[in-house]
Amino acid sequence: MTSIRQCESDESSLKSAFEEVSTFSLCSHWHRSISGIGASAAADVEPSIAPVQIDHSQLLIDGQFVDAASGKTFPTFDPRTGDVIANVAEGDTEDVNRAVRAARKAFDEGPWPKMTAYERSRIILRFADLLEKHNDEVAAIETWDSGKTYEQAAKVEIPMVVRLFRYYAGWVDKIHGLTVPADGPYHVQTLHEPIGVAGQIVPWNFPLLIFSWMAAPALACGNTVVIKTSEQAPLSALYVSKPFLEAGLPPGVLNVITGFGATAGASLCSHMDVDKLAFTGSTSTGKRQSEVTLELGGKSPFIVCEDADVDAAVEAAHFALFFNQGQCCCAGSRTFVHESIYDEFVEKAKARALKRVVGDPFKNGVEQGPQIDSAQFEKIMKYIRSGVENGATLESGGQRIGSKGYYIQPTVFSNVQDNMLIAKDEIFGPVQSILKFKDLEEVIRRANATSYGLASGVFTQNMDTANTLMRALRVGTVWINCYDVFDAAIPFGGYKMSGQGRVRGIYSLRSYLQVKAVVTALKNPAWL
Ligand code: NAD
Repeated sequence: MTSIRQCESDESSLKSAFEEVSTFSLCSHWHRSISGIGASAAADVEPSIAPVQIDHSQLLIDGQFVDAASGKTFPTFDPRTGDVIANVAEGDTEDVNRAVRAARKAFDEGPWPKMTAYERSRIILRFADLLEKHNDEVAAIETWDSGKTYEQAAKVEIPMVVRLFRYYAGWVDKIHGLTVPADGPYHVQTLHEPIGVAGQIVPWNFPLLIFSWMAAPALACGNTVVIKTSEQAPLSALYVSKPFLEAGLPPGVLNVITGFGATAGASLCSHMDVDKLAFTGSTSTGKRQSEVTLELGGKSPFIVCEDADVDAAVEAAHFALFFNQGQCCCAGSRTFVHESIYDEFVEKAKARALKRVVGDPFKNGVEQGPQIDSAQFEKIMKYIRSGVENGATLESGGQRIGSKGYYIQPTVFSNVQDNMLIAKDEIFGPVQSILKFKDLEEVIRRANATSYGLASGVFTQNMDTANTLMRALRVGTVWINCYDVFDAAIPFGGYKMSGQGRVRGIYSLRSYLQVKAVVTALKNPAWL
């Protein structure tokens, strides 16, 4: 049995525990620092008590919770303190083999693809109901394991996961082929059939949300799944495995492997019995895969035109970058602002960043928690140093908060040039880079001058400008006068090195279906 269980505390004491945590606002500690890093260290953010108890966690294979074949485990850490939360089964090749065998059997012999669409849909709906019931508990696990704010997890992410499963449950009995008007005495039709065993690899920044983007459409189409979670945030997927079984999912239909990329991940990618691979993660890892759905990194432009509502644009650009501690594939990480409003925008962006509330992610009102782990923390601090060294102006932030956990001040750079590292690389942290532009043609060229092409934001009140940018930007999503608007029905994915294929919406179904053409000779064509 997986033994992730809630503490003795009931739901109300769980909630009050979150609320008791000390608030930590950085405003009083921030100052402009030209020399940048290390000038002052703010006090530590004191973590609240652990919200749920997690003893250990096992793999889900063939409907059973089991240890890794090797017996090995690995620790997963609390980003608020760096302390170990739990030791999790370390899946490797042998476990992947067992999981793929189970998924293969469940697909080839089991009831899942053969079940009526209605019944399959009902199981997915039952799972969504159970997940909704445990919303706060799952959100607490997500916050604890990844550092994202509890409010974000409880009010946005877990409800979105529930919504997404319901969306795809609604599709199950609406998946069908076509009749095709081909030449000759033939009746031609297409059947839309599941592909088989789907291998899916998930990153840590939205562990359960991306789990749902991948697993929900695959299961809805009748595939079976082996999913490998991120070693940096493995707990929530294991937790939701139990309600899946309770909802009536047959053994082997969903298998969850926790473990490392180079071992368990690589074994899943190279397994001959996996019919379809989907990977969400960094571009450098994704480049090694081919013929798969890839959701990779980004360096998305956020373009503020001269006629934009500046206050609205400042707020949206702030959200576009700082949401989820800046750890978003689609973060608006290049804020292009027209020269006529540049100074005003920078002042306001800085003021907004200075107001951002950083603290224990379980505390109500906190906007920003810690970064996921020490490696990401160090990487981000290196980028901040490079921004200062390359001559960008550090408007706010730039420093670590305290000495415990992985908290970073919301950081704003102005006077950023295209060739600086902070304008080129995916930083994946709370670092906003504000660049200046003169005209549309120039900003289109510069916005597209990247190997990424995931998303973009456009702020303008001129329809022609909006339409021009919408057509010219080589990206998978254009948000006009808004940003980060997600919905189960809206497709998401990247151009260029940001990915291949789409998740969510009807487009995701296509990647989990085979199309079979059926051509039947007609004996008496004269009758037609
Ligand atoms: P990562 O590439 O390091 O890891 C992602 C997953 O791949 C993990 O489960 C990891 O264990 C596994 N992995 C690592 N090496 C592997 C290998 N050799 N073979 C098979 N699997 C391997 O990425 P990350 O740091 O976990 O996630 C952050 C990245 O994900 C960012 O670049 C971000 O932009 C991207 N991302 C993209 C999207 C999108 O929809 N485009 C969404 C979220 C995150």
